[in-house]
Amino acid sequence: MMKLLVVDDEVDVCDFVRKFFRERNFEVKIAHDGRGAVEVVRAEDPDIVLLDLKMPVMGGIEALREIRELGKTCKVVIVTALEDMASVDEARSFGAVDYITKPLLLEQLERTVLTLAEQVRTETC
Ligand SMILES: [Mg+2]
Repeated sequence: MMKLLVVDDEVDVCDFVRKFFRERNFEVKIAHDGRGAVEVVRAEDPDIVLLDLKMPVMGGIEALREIRELGKTCKVVIVTALEDMASVDEARSFGAVDYITKPLLLEQLERTVLTLAEQVRTETC
Protein backbone atom coordinates (compact mmCIF):
# COMPACT_ATOMS: atom_id res chain seq x y z
CA MET A 1 0.00 0.00 0.00
CA MET A 2 1.27 3.47 -0.87
CA LYS A 3 2.30 5.37 2.26
CA LEU A 4 1.53 9.09 2.50
CA LEU A 5 2.72 11.42 5.26
CA VAL A 6 0.65 14.58 5.77
CA VAL A 7 2.47 17.34 7.67
CA ASP A 8 0.48 20.39 8.73
CA ASP A 9 0.01 22.30 11.97
CA GLU A 10 -3.68 22.70 11.11
CA VAL A 11 -5.35 19.62 12.55
CA ASP A 12 -8.45 20.07 10.37
CA VAL A 13 -6.33 19.97 7.23
CA CYS A 14 -4.62 16.76 8.35
CA ASP A 15 -7.91 15.06 9.23
CA PHE A 16 -9.48 16.03 5.95
CA VAL A 17 -6.54 14.93 3.80
CA ARG A 18 -6.20 11.68 5.75
CA LYS A 19 -9.84 10.79 5.12
CA PHE A 20 -9.56 11.77 1.46
CA PHE A 21 -6.56 9.49 0.77
CA ARG A 22 -7.64 6.62 2.99
CA GLU A 23 -10.65 6.38 0.74
CA ARG A 24 -8.18 6.06 -2.16
CA ASN A 25 -6.34 3.18 -0.50
CA PHE A 26 -3.35 5.06 0.88
CA GLU A 27 -1.85 4.36 4.27
CA VAL A 28 -1.78 7.85 5.82
CA LYS A 29 0.51 9.11 8.60
CA ILE A 30 0.23 12.53 10.24
CA ALA A 31 2.66 15.01 11.78
CA HIS A 32 1.93 18.53 13.02
CA ASP A 33 5.37 20.11 12.86
CA GLY A 34 8.72 19.64 11.17
CA ARG A 35 10.28 17.80 14.08
CA GLY A 36 7.45 15.26 14.06
CA ALA A 37 7.72 14.95 10.29
CA VAL A 38 11.39 14.01 10.46
CA GLU A 39 10.61 11.39 13.11
CA VAL A 40 7.81 9.84 11.07
CA VAL A 41 9.95 9.76 7.93
CA ARG A 42 12.71 8.04 9.88
CA ALA A 43 10.35 5.46 11.38
CA GLU A 44 7.86 4.90 8.57
CA ASP A 45 9.73 5.64 5.33
CA PRO A 46 6.72 7.15 3.49
CA ASP A 47 6.57 7.17 -0.31
CA ILE A 48 5.06 10.65 -0.55
CA VAL A 49 5.09 13.60 1.87
CA LEU A 50 2.72 16.57 1.79
CA LEU A 51 4.71 19.22 3.64
CA ASP A 52 3.32 22.48 4.98
CA LEU A 53 5.95 25.22 5.18
CA LYS A 54 4.74 27.37 8.04
CA MET A 55 4.63 25.37 11.27
CA PRO A 56 5.76 25.90 14.84
CA VAL A 57 8.78 24.08 16.34
CA MET A 58 10.31 23.37 12.93
CA GLY A 59 9.11 24.63 9.54
CA GLY A 60 8.87 22.69 6.30
CA ILE A 61 12.15 23.84 4.76
CA GLU A 62 14.20 22.80 7.76
CA ALA A 63 12.32 19.49 7.98
CA LEU A 64 13.00 18.83 4.29
CA ARG A 65 16.68 19.54 4.78
CA GLU A 66 16.81 17.01 7.65
CA ILE A 67 14.84 14.44 5.66
CA ARG A 68 17.42 14.66 2.85
CA GLU A 69 20.26 14.41 5.38
CA LEU A 70 18.73 11.10 6.46
CA GLY A 71 19.16 9.99 2.86
CA LYS A 72 15.41 9.58 2.36
CA THR A 73 14.23 9.84 -1.23
CA CYS A 74 10.49 10.18 -0.59
CA LYS A 75 8.60 12.45 -3.00
CA VAL A 76 7.98 15.73 -1.20
CA VAL A 77 5.19 18.09 -2.21
CA ILE A 78 5.21 21.55 -0.63
CA VAL A 79 1.89 22.90 0.59
CA THR A 80 1.88 26.68 0.83
CA ALA A 81 0.16 29.99 0.28
CA LEU A 82 0.41 31.43 -3.22
CA GLU A 83 2.42 34.43 -2.08
CA ASP A 84 5.24 32.28 -0.74
CA MET A 85 6.87 31.21 -4.01
CA ALA A 86 10.36 32.13 -2.78
CA SER A 87 10.07 29.33 -0.23
CA VAL A 88 8.88 26.94 -2.91
CA ASP A 89 12.04 27.69 -4.90
CA GLU A 90 14.13 27.05 -1.81
CA ALA A 91 12.30 23.76 -1.20
CA ARG A 92 12.94 22.71 -4.80
CA SER A 93 16.64 23.20 -4.18
CA PHE A 94 16.25 20.50 -1.50
CA GLY A 95 14.54 18.19 -3.94
CA ALA A 96 10.86 18.97 -3.44
CA VAL A 97 9.20 17.65 -6.61
CA ASP A 98 6.05 19.77 -6.70
CA TYR A 99 3.89 22.19 -4.75
CA ILE A 100 0.22 22.80 -4.17
CA THR A 101 -1.35 25.97 -2.86
CA LYS A 102 -3.68 26.67 0.02
CA PRO A 103 -6.60 26.73 0.26
CA LEU A 104 -6.40 23.15 -1.01
CA LEU A 105 -8.28 22.33 -4.18
CA LEU A 106 -9.35 18.70 -4.18
CA GLU A 107 -8.70 18.14 -7.86
CA GLN A 108 -5.18 19.52 -7.64
CA LEU A 109 -4.46 17.57 -4.47
CA GLU A 110 -5.72 14.32 -5.94
CA ARG A 111 -4.03 14.74 -9.31
CA THR A 112 -0.66 15.68 -7.75
CA VAL A 113 -0.56 12.79 -5.28
CA LEU A 114 -1.92 10.14 -7.66
CA THR A 115 0.62 11.15 -10.31
CA LEU A 116 3.46 10.77 -7.82
CA ALA A 117 2.08 7.44 -6.59
CA GLU A 118 2.17 6.22 -10.18
CA GLN A 119 5.79 7.35 -10.48
CA VAL A 120 6.70 5.53 -7.28
CA ARG A 121 5.07 2.34 -8.59
CA THR A 122 6.96 2.62 -11.87
CA GLU A 123 10.28 3.23 -10.15
CA THR A 124 9.96 0.34 -7.72
CA CYS A 125 9.04 -2.36 -10.22
MG1 LIG B 1 0.91 25.96 8.67
